[in-house]
Amino acid sequence: MKTIYDYTYQDLEEYLLVSGEKKYRAKQIYSWLYKKRIDTFDEMTDLSKELINKLKDNFVINPFKEINRQISKDGTIKFLFEAEDGSSFETVLMHFHFGESICVSTQVGCNMGCTFCASGLFKKKRDLTSGEIVGQVLYVQKILDKEDKRIGNVVIMGTGEPFDNYDNVLNFASIINSDFGLAIGARHITISTCGIVPKIKEFSKGKFQYNLAISLHASNNELRSKLMPINKAYPLEELMEALKEYSIDNNRRLTFEYILLHNINDYDENAVELARLIKGYNAYINLIPYNEVDENGYVSSNDKAALHFYDLLMKNGVKATLRSKHGEDIDAACGQLRVKYNK
Ligand code: SAH
Repeated sequence: MKTIYDYTYQDLEEYLLVSGEKKYRAKQIYSWLYKKRIDTFDEMTDLSKELINKLKDNFVINPFKEINRQISKDGTIKFLFEAEDGSSFETVLMHFHFGESICVSTQVGCNMGCTFCASGLFKKKRDLTSGEIVGQVLYVQKILDKEDKRIGNVVIMGTGEPFDNYDNVLNFASIINSDFGLAIGARHITISTCGIVPKIKEFSKGKFQYNLAISLHASNNELRSKLMPINKAYPLEELMEALKEYSIDNNRRLTFEYILLHNINDYDENAVELARLIKGYNAYINLIPYNEVDENGYVSSNDKAALHFYDLLMKNGVKATLRSKHGEDIDAACGQLRVKYNK
């Protein structure tokens, strides 16, 4: 059955009107779902019995169950969920000095085929609905409620390509961003894409305040096409052009993600070339330590090499950050838990 989390605030108002109910009931229902965070329709005590029954007949609230959980030494928690149709997907909760951050999945499997990524080991089975993505945030928030903690940051960087499930992902963002919903600020929501250019252009026109992150991982077409097949469809020139337009039209700073792979993309020349590519953009580069995946043989650059790469970028006039590892001991990178579980 469909989850009521699928409904944006406007869609819920419309649904209620069409069902002969008052529009303002949407506000009550949203408050039960997202502020009081109840688990059953029966708890919605300010609705009529009739409306409660109608909701019960048509929707579920939480659309999946937890089937596995791994807790890392650093407190990172990785959840594996399973929907009614047997589809499984992962969510990661990370604790940072600035608060609780959650990484959500957007698809069951992924078709982008990045050679270093565990998610692509299984082709996409289906898109997640917006409600299934919302459900990931609420499931974890309900656990944090017991400790009086709040999810302050959402990154759409789990399994799946968000711009290959564009409408559901944007509805998801709108639901958690809504003041009637979880009220997570747009600037605390980050969408990460491998670079589907037409969708970047569409996103640019939408004038959203969400952060946009681009998985770059290489500074020339030859290497990028080897690592990321999407580069053959949308090569760097087209990608960088679309991003220039986006950052000018939206006056937003971009994040470029770059995982450091030993003897693949961590040479001095790569840093210099990368700096040249990014120069002039309102952007910074997030250097990410690679979580090794048994199946593909790539090795992470060591700390010394990462620091050297970082220094070279800075010397070449580009802002960069070096991300620390989270959940390394629990296979917290994209798709890793699901791969393990399916074995
Ligand atoms: N499809 C989107 C979002 C999911 S991947 C995208 O490509 O951006 C989120 C980020 O994790 C991407 O930058 C991806 O390249 C990176 N990633 C994938 N596998 C990884 C691994 N094993 N270790 C570190 N980062 C990884």
